[in-house]
Amino acid sequence: MLFDTNIGASVRCNNCGKLIMNEISLFNLSRSGLYEVKCSCDKVVMTIKSSNCKNFRIYIPCIVCEKDHLFMFDSKHALTEKVKILSCPASQMDIAFVGNKALVEDLARKHEKDLQELIKVLEI
Ligand SMILES: [Zn+2]
Ligand SMILES: [Zn+2]
Repeated sequence: MLFDTNIGASVRCNNCGKLIMNEISLFNLSRSGLYEVKCSCDKVVMTIKSSNCKNFRIYIPCIVCEKDHLFMFDSKHALTEKVKILSCPASQMDIAFVGNKALVEDLARKHEKDLQELIKVLEI
């Protein structure tokens, strides 16, 4: 089996509300040690750090509670497990999806509606 070291990540910008889809190469990440996903509004929506190719940490500025949340990952699991839903520990809201690219895209699209309603609620 060919080993794909790319994972998909979907997160919503907590500055402008845009949904961002990104593909992350774990191979490149393990070499550079740091990867930042930026929104077109220039806001960093996700920071991924790794000191080796086995584990990595994802920092996400939460759209719900505006704190930075840290998620720990095992790259083996991230590549073999389907999708990981990252949720805000304070509100239990899903804030990002990481994993298989096609599945992440699919899930993000399905959640688009829910998140739009959430944003509406937050704006009131
Ligand atoms: Zn933005
Ligand atoms: Zn939060």
